[in-house]
Amino acid sequence: MNSDHQAEASSGGPIVRLAGVNKHYGALHVLNNINLDVVKGEVVVILGPSGSGKSTLCRTINRLETIDEGTITIDGKTLPEEGKALARLRADVGMVFQSFNLFAHKTILENVTLGPIKVKGMKKSEADKLAMQLLERVGVANQAAKLPAQLSGGQQQRVAIARALAMKPKVMLFDEPTSALDPEMINEVLDTMVSLAREGMTMLVVTHEMGFARKAADRVIFMADGQIVEQATPEEFFTNPQSARAKDFLSKLI
Ligand code: ADP
Ligand code: MG
Repeated sequence: MNSDHQAEASSGGPIVRLAGVNKHYGALHVLNNINLDVVKGEVVVILGPSGSGKSTLCRTINRLETIDEGTITIDGKTLPEEGKALARLRADVGMVFQSFNLFAHKTILENVTLGPIKVKGMKKSEADKLAMQLLERVGVANQAAKLPAQLSGGQQQRVAIARALAMKPKVMLFDEPTSALDPEMINEVLDTMVSLAREGMTMLVVTHEMGFARKAADRVIFMADGQIVEQATPEEFFTNPQSARAKDFLSKLI
């Protein structure tokens, strides 16, 4: 089943493919021979201790970081180095970060319409209509005329999700989307993500919310020291972790 918010995949292959990806920060081997395919409609949750390379992995997928070796393709296409072609292909990869990164001096509506108008050349009337549908979808349509600072953190993060969806991405990357939120706002964001997952969105999610991983993940990837150490279904991973690193990680969770 294809979500309304998701562009049609064209290649028939994986939506995201990392093959032999290596990256160093000086002496630090931050991504160590990463091989990862995410297929259409799959929800992959990345777990791992702080500093294991989860954010770096997300950022390389969108070319916010370069890689030293290997290939990364989105629906069969390699992201170009720069320019308009990069902006267009980047639109295929929606990103939601821990800090919501909304444009502070633009209204909620403008935050969502900017990408479709600038990158996709959509008419303002059409972009407004799409944005209102998406704001409705994430439950903040009544906030459309406000500025980001007038919204709660949970509402702002839902706007960030709507903004990413407005580009009709082929995959959504979430990097600890609830880590900066007050506890009472975490669920409203996780619920939005769960419903996106159920609609068939292809998702790669870095999170410490094990409840989300159990409920929504098709596959859990456990990273440590820049490597994928283990991957399994959530059921298998949480009940029967194989590696010492994963056992240690799980034992420290509350
Ligand atoms: P995680 O998201 O799993 O916590 P990160 O991908 O943020 O891990 O970081 C992995 C490692 O790379 C950490 O040791 C971090 O200090 C280091 N690192 C991240 N970004 C940079 C950078 N721009 N320059 C140098 N080292 C970095
Ligand atoms: Mg991180």
